[in-house]
Amino acid sequence: MNLVSKAMSIKNKVSGKILFDESLSRYSWFNLGGPAKVIFKPKNLNELSFFLKNINGFKKILVLGAGSNTLIRDNGFSGIVIKLGSAFSRISLFDENTIIAGASAFDKDLSNFAFKNSVSGFEFLSCIPGTIGGGIRMNSGCYENDISKILVSVQAMDLNGKIRIIYSSDIKFSYRGCSLDNDLLFISATFKGKKNNKKDIQKKINYFVEKKKKDQPSKIKTCGSTFKNPKNEKAWKLIKESGCAGMKFGDAYISEKHCNFFVNGGKAKSSDLENLINQVKDKVLDKTGINLELELKIVGEK
Ligand SMILES: Cc1cc2nc3c(=O)[nH]c(=O)nc-3n(C[C@H](O)[C@H](O)[C@H](O)COP(=O)(O)OP(=O)(O)OC[C@H]3O[C@@H](n4cnc5c(N)ncnc54)[C@H](O)[C@@H]3O)c2cc1C
Repeated sequence: MNLVSKAMSIKNKVSGKILFDESLSRYSWFNLGGPAKVIFKPKNLNELSFFLKNINGFKKILVLGAGSNTLIRDNGFSGIVIKLGSAFSRISLFDENTIIAGASAFDKDLSNFAFKNSVSGFEFLSCIPGTIGGGIRMNSGCYENDISKILVSVQAMDLNGKIRIIYSSDIKFSYRGCSLDNDLLFISATFKGKKNNKKDIQKKINYFVEKKKKDQPSKIKTCGSTFKNPKNEKAWKLIKESGCAGMKFGDAYISEKHCNFFVNGGKAKSSDLENLINQVKDKVLDKTGINLELELKIVGEK
């Protein structure tokens, strides 16, 4: 049985949505991307497990969070996209400084929750527009903070529908990455911060938010930093010094405010962005000898 027929047969047995050939453009901050063969939005954990157990070991699965770090190609994704909804976004206090958050909870909501409960260490999440799941995969962070510094454990589901708990001490975190298997679906995570007074926490949040506003563009179709900063270098600086500022491809362009932010001007195709990315990468390599590595995830069919 092919993927679509198999998913059709599961459709009647779950209450979550299973969609076919639906455009992925509204699932990415770039507002770009062709259709997914199948999209599954599980209603709860049991359904997610049931779906994975019954999809016959099909492995081409992509979990999307807020899509704030993912460029989806124009030809779409010829597998299954899993999008976790509100059943996976609960945030709760485990003890006075330990918080459990669902993988689809927004980073900002976790930061607010920690503030309300006088727990510090989560302030930096107030200015990252993704979800907890995406944040763990990317080891997202800013201003000397990142997810690895507050993570205790990740609750994940494997492609056989089985739950696993992985402790932070068993995960190798790197700058914008981690060693967790690519075929794990993060369900929730446990974090630990420090008790502090609300006034100090709010002050730190305000400082980060203001700094972000000053340094980075807002209200544009972007996925944030395109390239990782090489060791002891800044990607935006290398891009600028290589003469790439102002470069365009179709309606894809480089932000004037931040050279490492690439933007869909409204009519760009994913291929425009990918071409612009490749051109900039080549030019920086040519001018500086540095091979920039993507921070952005590019997914889908070429
Ligand atoms: C304006 C702007 C500012 C930004 N600023 C920052 C910043 O300061 N620091 C920073 O680090 N990033 C920043 N980003 C990038 C982005 O917000 C982060 O990488 C964010 O953590 C991505 O989360 P997401 O939910 O959007 O992930 P997505 O883009 O949806 O996915 C990213 C990766 O995570 C995987 N993933 C998502 N959810 C799950 C899950 N439940 N289980 C398993 N894998 C999963 C996806 O498969 C994909 O590989 C910025 C982006 C924008 C648009």
